Amino acid sequence: MPKFCPTCGNSSDKIAFLGNFCMNCAKERFNKSLDITAEVLLCKKCGKIKSGKGQSYEEISGKSLESAISQHFRRYNCHLIDYTDKTARLDISDETEHGKLSVEHEVEIEFKRKMCDMC
Ligand SMILES: [Zn+2]
Ligand SMILES: [Zn+2]
Repeated sequence: MPKFCPTCGNSSDKIAFLGNFCMNCAKERFNKSLDITAEVLLCKKCGKIKSGKGQSYEEISGKSLESAISQHFRRYNCHLIDYTDKTARLDISDETEHGKLSVEHEVEIEFKRKMCDMC
């Protein structure tokens, strides 16, 4: 007996399922549950960002930004795909009881300007 997705009606004959939902809907639900903004502390004097808890400030780079934004999605695995000065595109994955779910997710970066400890 195929399963049918309660949201879109897709059948498990045609598409992979994660629990009760088809993969498309499972991803969409996961995506909607994620924050769409991420606050990042930026030093207004030296322009470095706080890359993680209790760590020092670092130059803006893919690595430091990934680390800073990951703080907002601590329950999941989070990788930065690319970024601009306003947005970041991430690959976020979760190990659910039904298997691995991973989505591409875009967040708006909210830079919060303050002074770092060095300045
Ligand atoms: Zn569906
Ligand atoms: Zn500074």
